[in-house]
Amino acid sequence: MTYRAPISEIQAAMRYAMAAASGANNAAFADLDDGMDASILDQAAKYAEGVLDPINRNGDLTPAVCRDGVVTTSPGWKEAYQAWIEGGWSSLSAPADHGGMGLPNVLNTACLEMWSAANMAFMLCPILSDGAILALARHATPELQQAYIPNIVSCVWPATMNLTEPQAGSDLNALRTKAERASDGTYRITGQKIFITYGEHDMSENIVHLVLARLPDAPAGTRGISLFLVPKYIPNADGAPGELNDLRCSAIEHKIGIHGSPTCTMIYGDNGGATGWLIGEENRGLACMFTMMNNARLAVGIQGVAAAERSTQQAIAFASERKQGRPPGWDGTDAMAPIAAHADVKRMLMAMTSMTAASRAICYLTAAATDLSHRAQDEGARQQAHERASLLTPVAKAFSTDLGNEATSIGVQVHGGMGFIEETGAAQHMRDVRIAAIYEGTNGIQAIDLVMRKLPMRDGDALEREMTDMRSIVEALKASNVPQFGNAADRLAETLDSLDRASSWLRAQIANAPNDALAGATPYLRLFGLARGGTALAQIALNASADNDLNAQKRIALARFFAEHICCGARGLELSICEGAASVHEAAIALLP
Ligand SMILES: Cc1cc2nc3c(=O)[nH]c(=O)nc-3n(C[C@H](O)[C@H](O)[C@H](O)COP(=O)(O)OP(=O)(O)OC[C@H]3O[C@@H](n4cnc5c(N)ncnc54)[C@H](O)[C@@H]3O)c2cc1C
Repeated sequence: MTYRAPISEIQAAMRYAMAAASGANNAAFADLDDGMDASILDQAAKYAEGVLDPINRNGDLTPAVCRDGVVTTSPGWKEAYQAWIEGGWSSLSAPADHGGMGLPNVLNTACLEMWSAANMAFMLCPILSDGAILALARHATPELQQAYIPNIVSCVWPATMNLTEPQAGSDLNALRTKAERASDGTYRITGQKIFITYGEHDMSENIVHLVLARLPDAPAGTRGISLFLVPKYIPNADGAPGELNDLRCSAIEHKIGIHGSPTCTMIYGDNGGATGWLIGEENRGLACMFTMMNNARLAVGIQGVAAAERSTQQAIAFASERKQGRPPGWDGTDAMAPIAAHADVKRMLMAMTSMTAASRAICYLTAAATDLSHRAQDEGARQQAHERASLLTPVAKAFSTDLGNEATSIGVQVHGGMGFIEETGAAQHMRDVRIAAIYEGTNGIQAIDLVMRKLPMRDGDALEREMTDMRSIVEALKASNVPQFGNAADRLAETLDSLDRASSWLRAQIANAPNDALAGATPYLRLFGLARGGTALAQIALNASADNDLNAQKRIALARFFAEHICCGARGLELSICEGAASVHEAAIALLP
């Protein structure tokens, strides 16, 4: 089934996010006035539907292969990448002083949703370049910027991210890849990296690896990690790719999903060390890599939204066609009704649609906050936006990919037995999105980041501002007196009360009983996502309610369903957070050897 870009939903979520992020400061997005966003979204949708979608299945059925270190991508991949270069898509939000268009991240995020929905495995290559551009623009020397950024912006040299090693996944303290200083100011890199997305492929003339490694005299732990730029081909004096660097891909992985994306084992330094250039300062590499990772975390959150959207479109189409049974009171002439007429199938479809819309709103809001963090005019507003983006990033990544996993699983369920049969394609969305909850920091690690680092940020100020914003939406919802919202305002008010109590409880545990706080981290992130997603949907519906058209009815129905059916689990999450730590810790007695 083909993918259709949901432009109207995307625009409604963008409008919400930009207004919510900028408040009175709406000049921050002035460059999107005059229909600029509509025309770019339209072009991006054409690339998604016309180029990426038709080869999505190729990637699943004919995965990338590695022979003697040469990786051949799936049929159609090279041509689609060439079209990506010609479209100049990587330049969308790249800084204008580095050859990019410098447009808001919220617009890029919206395009990314469409492209990832059309072909998640393909899009993993270009999205890593977005973060690399930012990391280099912020931390690299002018010479390094000049030699590499234009080639990454124009996409002719895509970038990769090399953190993971066999013994160092979530815990980068254990990283062992070595960097030795060379007499010419460069470094020699030696070691093995695993699971490197698009570490090797045949789509471009060069590949720029950003590699974390340790100097011989580096302090132990994450304070002793440096970041290096290690090109596949070392540029000649004229800037063109020259000699092959001392690195190779030794194998690629066989995976549950994203078969079209080569996941590579990379070997650096078989012959004395790959030549690398330092990015930022020695031993401060993790901070530089975080510039890239924060960008990538939002992009992964968007993969959750994208997979959910695509799976929902397919489930709705199937449920409208497939006939089984008759619901009570069915007055159709056929002996059997479309399954979409059954209450339980309607529930599944509403769950999928509302979960997609809620996670979309959170991701776009996070993107708009990152925009404000450098576009707002005064320093105070930039700082507050930066804190907001920091608070929301783990939620955007983990909540959206959790919901992406849930929605795509429901998508299979809607198809019945045919969902389990690969031919329908419903299972591919579920298999592809499974990784999104794992890479870029597992969702468990995101929850820890939210509770242990983001909640206490500025003594809870960022959280307090988020609560105030969400409470004001509930007040507006109550005041709106639109009967179609049903009990949404009450359910959302209860969700916020639960979030408030759980936040206070967790903040009290962080210093004295950190293991109890950690036991509640994942349910807390979920609760936060429900509150933020539920209130965002309510605001989007309030924005539309004056229109009284089909779109408005749809948005009100989604906001109501999400509040009444999904947010109503908030109290259970609160109990799990505030009263469930002891039973979590019993695992050590009950289960472990
Ligand atoms: C398809 C694919 C593509 C990838 N692409 C890249 C890439 O391009 N670049 C790159 O560098 N890496 C990449 N990775 C690696 C990925 O980021 C890691 O797999 C991920 O960070 C988890 O690390 P791990 O696999 O070692 O799991 P582990 O760290 O061993 O975690 C196992 C489990 O333990 C939990 N856990 C671990 N530590 C803690 C803790 N302190 N507290 C609570 N729970 C904890 C985790 O949440 C998880 O559930 C990729 C992986 C895959 C599979």
